[in-house]
Amino acid sequence: MKIQIRSINLTYRYLCCCMAFKLEDLPVIEVRQVRKVYPSRSRHGQSILAIENITFDVMKGEFVSIVGPSGCGKSTLLRMLAGLLEVTEGEIRVNGKSVCGPYGDIGIVFQTPTLLKWRSVKDNVLLPIEVLRRSRHEFVGRAEELLRMVGLWDFRNEYPFVLSGGMQQRVALCRALIHDPSLLVMDEPFAALDALTREEMNMELLKLWTERRKTIIFITHSISEAILLSDRVIVLSSRPATIDSIFSIDLPRPRTTDMQYLDSFQNYSSMIHERIYLKQRSNI
Ligand code: ADP
Repeated sequence: MKIQIRSINLTYRYLCCCMAFKLEDLPVIEVRQVRKVYPSRSRHGQSILAIENITFDVMKGEFVSIVGPSGCGKSTLLRMLAGLLEVTEGEIRVNGKSVCGPYGDIGIVFQTPTLLKWRSVKDNVLLPIEVLRRSRHEFVGRAEELLRMVGLWDFRNEYPFVLSGGMQQRVALCRALIHDPSLLVMDEPFAALDALTREEMNMELLKLWTERRKTIIFITHSISEAILLSDRVIVLSSRPATIDSIFSIDLPRPRTTDMQYLDSFQNYSSMIHERIYLKQRSNI
């Protein structure tokens, strides 16, 4: 009898291990044959085909950047991923569930931090908690911890106008992370910052990603930023956006800014550059 129970126990544990392994291996994001058409804005205007037949997966904890020519459909794709925009055809699944509208397990950072100027830094970070109708009291400690992590502890009670652009974007990052989402999507979050602050923010983001292991989708115009940060870089074609190519970035981690001078980094850079710009030029 004892032996039988022990063998059932072992079988159960073996099955759990297999399931755990499989769950880890499942993609967090599944984009399937997605198409997006914007209807025309006027009666005689034309509809705009922004995205055509896009399919890709993103695994748990992956850092994936999306690059492509300006106006190709990057933000459209990101807004559909976040449930802020409907797909016209195809399907996007996040954690196995079809995206049909905004959902909670996601943090979003846009190019402009859009902080509320009448709320303190800490209260800006806590804003999603109020929107999600969760207990503010439970999250104050986390807000403080995040602000400490991005070096803004001393500014927690200040108002946004005393902060530089980089500091404001750090607050926006803390706000996106306050409810501990497993997925973070970022739409050119550092585009408005000067080069040095941008590098600093890149390193800050990598530190955060390493410590918290979020799945990150990052849109950028900067090829070197995409290479420096990512496990994979998805290159979109000009509009309508299709997937032109996907590069796996085989550089060691932790990444450092001086990796930009490595031959392998330069190779990735010229290959991605070629995919984006040579193709564009051949279309002229
Ligand atoms: P990107 O982020 O790559 O610069 P977008 O996703 O913002 O590109 O836009 C892709 C295309 O869709 C562009 O041609 C843009 O003009 C068009 N577009 C974006 N938003 C709308 C909208 N709300 N209505 C109509 N067309 C739009």
